[in-house]
Amino acid sequence: MMYLVVCPQCRNHMKYDTKDTLLAKKVKRCVYCGRSFSVRQNLLKTLPK
Ligand SMILES: [Zn+2]
Repeated sequence: MMYLVVCPQCRNHMKYDTKDTLLAKKVKRCVYCGRSFSVRQNLLKTLPK
């Protein structure tokens, strides 16, 4: 699945691609400011593939 997530620090949007649908413990590192954040809590929407 491909997700659109937003960084809670710099508010930039980025894509997060994973085969796992359980996002509870997934953490992504922001490509802009380097902050790690929870994917699930900052999820904007699911992108169609
Ligand atoms: Zn950021």
